[in-house]
Amino acid sequence: MELRKSIFSIFFLSTIAFFPIENYSQTVEKDQITIVVDPGHGGSDPGAIGINGNKEKEVVLKIARKMIEISKSSPENGFKIYLTRYKDSLISLNDRTKLAKALKADVFISLHCNHSNNPNAHGLEAYVSNIRSQQSKESILFAYQIQKELSKELGLKSRGVKFSNFQVLQESIGFYPSVLVELGFLSNWEEEKWLSNLENINQIAYSILVAIRESLDFR
Ligand SMILES: [Zn+2]
Repeated sequence: MELRKSIFSIFFLSTIAFFPIENYSQTVEKDQITIVVDPGHGGSDPGAIGINGNKEKEVVLKIARKMIEISKSSPENGFKIYLTRYKDSLISLNDRTKLAKALKADVFISLHCNHSNNPNAHGLEAYVSNIRSQQSKESILFAYQIQKELSKELGLKSRGVKFSNFQVLQESIGFYPSVLVELGFLSNWEEEKWLSNLENINQIAYSILVAIRESLDFR
C-alpha cells in the first residue's frame, strides 16, 4: 500500500513539473476510469452552515473542483472526472445519479460536511448503501480506503464506515461502487476552521484520489 501510494505521489509531483498538458488527451484514452464526483447541495440549498458561516455547498464544490485540477495534472492515472454540478446550482438527487449512470461511472463519490447539535462532535464518516448488490464489496472497500487515507494523512478522526439509505447511494448501488463521505463537522469550531483553509481543501482532494487509486488496485 505504501509503495503504491509513493508511486502515485511521485507521478503526481513529477507530472505537475514536467508533463506537457497537450499530452493529456492522448494519455487518458486507454484504461480510462470515469469518476463522478457529487458536490452535495447547491443553489438555494446551502447544506450545513458552520458557526462562522462557512457553507457546506461551497466547501464540497471547492474539493470537487480541486479533484479535477489534480487529475488533469497527473493524466497517467487515467482518471476522467465529471461533477454533478460545476457551480452553485441545485441539482435534484435523481439527476445526479442519472448523470453517473449515463456516463457509466466506474466510481461515484458524494461529498458532504456534517453538522450536529453537539459542538464537540467531530471526525469523518464514509457511508455505503445498506442495500446489498454486486457493487457492495467494492463500495465498502472504497469507503474504507477513503476514511483510512483521510484520517492517516490529514489527522481527521475516523468515525468509521457506516451503512445508510441516502438516496444517491440507493440509486447508485446497483450500477457502480458508490460512497457518500461526510468530511468533518461544520458545527465544530476547529473542523470548520480547518475546512475553510485552502491547503486542507487541496489535501482532501488529493487524498480522495489516492484512496480511489488504491481501491481500484484491489480489483
Ligand atoms: Zn450534506
